[in-house]
Amino acid sequence: MNRKGLLIVISGPSGAGKGTIGAHIKRNIPNVRDSISVTTRDPRPGEKEGVHYYFRTVEAYQRMIANGEFLETASVYCNFYGTPKKPVLDMLAKGYDVLFDIDTIGARQIKKSYPDAVTIFVMPPSMAELRKRLAGRNTESETVMERRLASARKELAEYESYDYFVINDDIDVASDAVVGIIKAEKNRTFRQEDVIKTILEEV
Ligand code: 5GP
Repeated sequence: MNRKGLLIVISGPSGAGKGTIGAHIKRNIPNVRDSISVTTRDPRPGEKEGVHYYFRTVEAYQRMIANGEFLETASVYCNFYGTPKKPVLDMLAKGYDVLFDIDTIGARQIKKSYPDAVTIFVMPPSMAELRKRLAGRNTESETVMERRLASARKELAEYESYDYFVINDDIDVASDAVVGIIKAEKNRTFRQEDVIKTILEEV
């Protein structure tokens, strides 16, 4: 069966649980691959080149923009982040579903190029809870944390452009909800037209 891959976009503030939810998706839905972004920010401890991100200088990043290598690009928390086009197109052509953990600006660009993409916003139940989770991570200074909270407020204002809004009060419940969304989306009638036509052509 020649099925086109699904684009799954997950946005939400750092600390919303996107990473855990992404891992749950990959455990429960076959043939999902991550889109690995390019960033100009420094690697955090434990982050690996080509696994978590492709880490590039601002100059190298700008060359990639000039060469038209990005599907979308945005400036988040004073660094550049972007989705390289080629690996995504290759994965989709092979029938893989592709998972994007990107901000609201990038999500809007993807939705414009691929209106069939499924967009999901994940949010803790309150800003107070988000602050608590970010503080618990302990990877960033107070200034960076304040910047992330301000950015979360701005991102949240974009909620209406998302297909789904999942509150992560309990990570297991939220992860199951996202997996449920993706499974349902894969069965949408308009995504099955090729298969349906084949069935209809059977004598
Ligand atoms: P972090 O620095 O915590 O890894 O990511 C910061 C933010 O950048 C996250 O909200 C994440 O969704 C977003 N982000 C990561 N990669 C991309 C990308 O390729 N494009 C866009 N637009 N945003 C990204």
